[in-house]
Amino acid sequence: MNLKISPTIDEILEKGADFGGIDREEALRLMSLDLHSPETYALMQTANWMSREQFKGKAENHFHIGVNVAPCPLNCAFCSLAENVGIFTEHTEFGEEKIVNWAKLAESRNADALNIMTTGNFSLQRILDIGRLLKSAVSTPLVANTRDISHKEGEQLLDAGYVGAYHSVRLGEGRDTPLKIDKRIRTIQVLKDVGLRWMNCVEPVAPEHRHEEIVDLMFLARKYGATYSGVMRRINFPGSPMEKYGMITELEMAKMVAVSRLVMGDAPRAHCTHEPHSVSLIAGANLFFPEVGSSPRDGMSDTEEGRGKGIDACRLLQTEMHLDPDSPSNCF
Ligand code: SF4
Repeated sequence: MNLKISPTIDEILEKGADFGGIDREEALRLMSLDLHSPETYALMQTANWMSREQFKGKAENHFHIGVNVAPCPLNCAFCSLAENVGIFTEHTEFGEEKIVNWAKLAESRNADALNIMTTGNFSLQRILDIGRLLKSAVSTPLVANTRDISHKEGEQLLDAGYVGAYHSVRLGEGRDTPLKIDKRIRTIQVLKDVGLRWMNCVEPVAPEHRHEEIVDLMFLARKYGATYSGVMRRINFPGSPMEKYGMITELEMAKMVAVSRLVMGDAPRAHCTHEPHSVSLIAGANLFFPEVGSSPRDGMSDTEEGRGKGIDACRLLQTEMHLDPDSPSNCF
């Protein structure tokens, strides 16, 4: 068995481990490594070392609450909430008492943030109401995960108690979605301008995506200084129009989590992956999204009763991998 790694890859890993970032060609070189090669394990080991060093063994849990279920007319091809998929036909919103109870559960388990997710056609006014409601009920930082917003709307989110926003240029943006890349990037700039922390993930990664488009989104996150930016794979819910393309495995995702960790260098406060699993926790990831309520990956209206992993399960995965979910967040 050959355990020696190529000198060229060794040089890239050494450079990455200095936290200064790597360049696009180097990232593409890492993306093309054989999954079971010693180089891939050295890559994951390097990313693992970087995160444990920089984040001091902290495991983050940003608790996703999907507050509404609706047939979304934006029809992103990878989303179970898309109107044309036909899974959800009625507009419903989880009640305020339920949302507050979820938030209190998250707070009691030391969640580091609440990610308040809505469909793309949900009322901003209701997002603001929910922000004010949760701000008065729990002390966990609030992150909004909604549509593109203007400067005025960004300021309203801040006033309502949100301290950050999850927002990504998705893989296949403009092809698998009706949204323009420029508009998505404009919203990132809005978040920076108004002082909301920008949270990102390279997503939803799937077998048909070229390495170049995946890597370009990693560099977008570094360029705009994302608070975190790891990798999430696409989940093909039953009946998904993307089923024909298949899904990447957790191990393939972990390798990309590691590449994005080297790309991000010293910029991030955490490094995410989704859905929660062990192997990426030794490849540079330290942030999970436990999930309740609606989810674009689930055919169940409450993912707590579907494929969503709860916060106790996430905490267990993290402690089993020697990460501490109870120490203070590095993100806020
Ligand atoms: S990803 Fe968001 S905007 Fe796109 S269809 Fe789903 S809910 Fe609507």
